[in-house]
Amino acid sequence: MPNYVVGHKIPDSDSICSAIALAYLKTTLGEETVPARLGELSPETLFILDKFGFEQPQLKTNYAGESLYIVDHSERTQGPDDIDDATILGIVDHHKLGDITTSTPLEIWVRPVGCTNTIIKMMYDFHHIEIPQNIAAAMMCAILSDTVIFKSPTCTTADIKCVEALAEIAGIENPSELGMEMFKVKSAVEGTPIRDLVLRDFKDFDMNGNLVGIGQLEVIDLAIFDEMKADLAADIAKLKAEGNRHSVLLLLTDIMKEGSELLVVSDHNDLAKAAYGKPTENGKVWLDGVLSRKKQVVPPLQEVFS
Ligand code: MG
Ligand code: MG
Ligand code: MG
Repeated sequence: MPNYVVGHKIPDSDSICSAIALAYLKTTLGEETVPARLGELSPETLFILDKFGFEQPQLKTNYAGESLYIVDHSERTQGPDDIDDATILGIVDHHKLGDITTSTPLEIWVRPVGCTNTIIKMMYDFHHIEIPQNIAAAMMCAILSDTVIFKSPTCTTADIKCVEALAEIAGIENPSELGMEMFKVKSAVEGTPIRDLVLRDFKDFDMNGNLVGIGQLEVIDLAIFDEMKADLAADIAKLKAEGNRHSVLLLLTDIMKEGSELLVVSDHNDLAKAAYGKPTENGKVWLDGVLSRKKQVVPPLQEVFS
């Protein structure tokens, strides 16, 4: 029976490219390991896989009785539903430490860097394993995506150096240009059903017993949402009710203006004011300089719930 590597629910490019890169590393080290995914892929991730000739990792949601590596998260709400019945061999992640726990010893690589793939590159270096060209390219794309082409406050010098090294291996001359190409793919939202957009990059968090869902859409020009903002707001209200959530937030991030418009529905009477010091008007507020859910949106929220 092989081992598996799986990222978070509603997989992003980091979760998928991490699964592919870590599965190759582990298999090369003599441990048969297969990349997997918990859900459908975004257009950005499909673009990366197609460009560098990868198949989609297998869709696998049940892990009872299996052994697996967890990448790009360590929160129980974000992992496989039956994770308690699986053996966790390791965690590779760059988020705040979550609530996944184990009954057996495990390997843990957690670093405060911009992307899980930056940590996986460290693992390749640690084991002196050469990274194949196409895997290097996919890893590089994931770092460009997670760090918003180095603009995110989560980006570290380790991420920048890692992209340089991976670009060299992959033979890619201009990583930033490829990054912009990816964000253009990501920005093509017209014609997509509203619910698909809300859930495209959506994560649930357990905040002191309250379920809080936070979605994010990163685009190169916020104007594309002008026509759909009312529908997006209506849909997050629905999602809140359906999932019995305390709050649902949707970040509409403009990567060129480097800020986010935040749409909020909440049982709290002004969650945005409490967390970010700015009140919402008609359920929305512009947060200048806010690009990162992990570093700028989640921590102040947790304060409110603590
Ligand atoms: Mg992720
Ligand atoms: Mg990530
Ligand atoms: Mg992200």
